[in-house]
Amino acid sequence: MAILEIKEYGEPVLREKSLPVKKVTPEISDFIRDMAETMYTASGVGLSAPQVGVLKRIIVIDGQEEGLIALINPKIVRREGEVNEEEGCLSFPDMYSKVKRSSRVTVEGLNQKGERIEITKEGLIARALQHEIDHLDGILFIDKIGRVKRQLLLNKLKKQKTL
Ligand code: ZN
Repeated sequence: MAILEIKEYGEPVLREKSLPVKKVTPEISDFIRDMAETMYTASGVGLSAPQVGVLKRIIVIDGQEEGLIALINPKIVRREGEVNEEEGCLSFPDMYSKVKRSSRVTVEGLNQKGERIEITKEGLIARALQHEIDHLDGILFIDKIGRVKRQLLLNKLKKQKTL
């Protein structure tokens, strides 16, 4: 297992679209294990492959008591409700903002074994699923907040980088 380097905002790879995984090979399973280890080490709730520089449609989520949720080629097939809650991202260290998300989502995709699964989640896990799936299309949480708040966060980021 290995800890992967997390790409931070400004790295072009975070704006690219990831490609579907054609086959769940042992290399993909190893990569998912590395992603999970990286996420847990960074104390994140979720992580997407493009955040470690790999343009493949893979996400991992800390499912808390149910353990790791790993999804390959995930797709949101149903959304319900709306909530506006604080959110962060491992690619934006120490930055948080309220983001509107669906309160409950159903996602289909493949699990680590390559089996087709469908899960329905709410609360923090539903939020993490939407956030990580956005990453696969190059969409970041700052794209979903107001212009003024976004500018404040980006200014803060710029300041951190020049310190
Ligand atoms: Zn993120």
